[in-house]
Amino acid sequence: MSTVQRSRRGFFQSATAAVVTAGAVLQNPLEAMLPDEQRLPRPGRLLDCHLHINHFDRSVEDTIRHMDRTGTSRAFILPLETGEGNVLLRSETVLHAFHLYKDRIIPFCQTDIRQPDVLDRIRAYHLLGCRGIGEQKEHLPLGDKRVEAVIALCDELNWPITIHFQDSASGYNQGMAEHLETYLKRYRRVRIIGHAQTFWANISADVPPPDETLYPTGPVRPGGLLDRLLGDYPNLYADMSAGSGYRALSRDEDFTAGFFDRHPKQILFGSDCPCRDGAGENFKGMCYSTQLQRLLRRLISDESRLDDAFHNNAMLALEGTA
Ligand SMILES: [Zn+2]
Ligand SMILES: [Zn+2]
Repeated sequence: MSTVQRSRRGFFQSATAAVVTAGAVLQNPLEAMLPDEQRLPRPGRLLDCHLHINHFDRSVEDTIRHMDRTGTSRAFILPLETGEGNVLLRSETVLHAFHLYKDRIIPFCQTDIRQPDVLDRIRAYHLLGCRGIGEQKEHLPLGDKRVEAVIALCDELNWPITIHFQDSASGYNQGMAEHLETYLKRYRRVRIIGHAQTFWANISADVPPPDETLYPTGPVRPGGLLDRLLGDYPNLYADMSAGSGYRALSRDEDFTAGFFDRHPKQILFGSDCPCRDGAGENFKGMCYSTQLQRLLRRLISDESRLDDAFHNNAMLALEGTA
């Protein structure tokens, strides 16, 4: 073997080792030729704050494949134990997946908060290695004492909680405008990660009634509740996942660029993507992860801010500062 061949082989071996250590994918060399906004993130620098496993019966292996294909090094995996959002994923299943893929999966837990033993169960999940609660998505209003009890427990455990806010009659955690600020004020250690339609409708000062639409479009009117709460409460984070996040952030890109400038440490990359392959093979050709990555690359030019949105802010939300 020539010196050149040997050193080349050495290069590939060490490159492979570096990539495996980072727990991320080997990137296609052709990717270097893609326009900036289509590139995958640097290995180890994309943390997805919102992923489930069994969307459309996706397996754990396919979920990891989705992460590989989208350049996602790690993800918060969120169970939904009551299945009220049409996905039923048990906390035990997430813990099992975590034991198979310790360097890729950050396990959250969730369990029926109407059961009398809910706080004991959550404490048990804490001892078993879970890192937060989510996705909290049950048909209870936000002001319900049982919702407050799990937020209070997260505060005690120094945990984040991901909440699905949807104000429609058959929605979840209704009453964000009336109750969210009370919790942010009362519980300063818990990180509340906001998600879904009503959370994102409040990017604008004019929010249509939920029975009219949950997905408002068109220019954003400045002065929305989200801007105020994110500005006043560093313990609030914005989960940009799913159609709700993407539609809100892409409806008025000039406004969004300013929104990112005002809250650079509180925006979390997340996908909630149900696809198996990072190309939407089972999801009408759409992948929420790659779609959002491209939007963020287009709107955030500063690399360190992009790094915050893709990775560092999720770590802040996970670990807290208390
Ligand atoms: Zn979800
Ligand atoms: Zn996808």
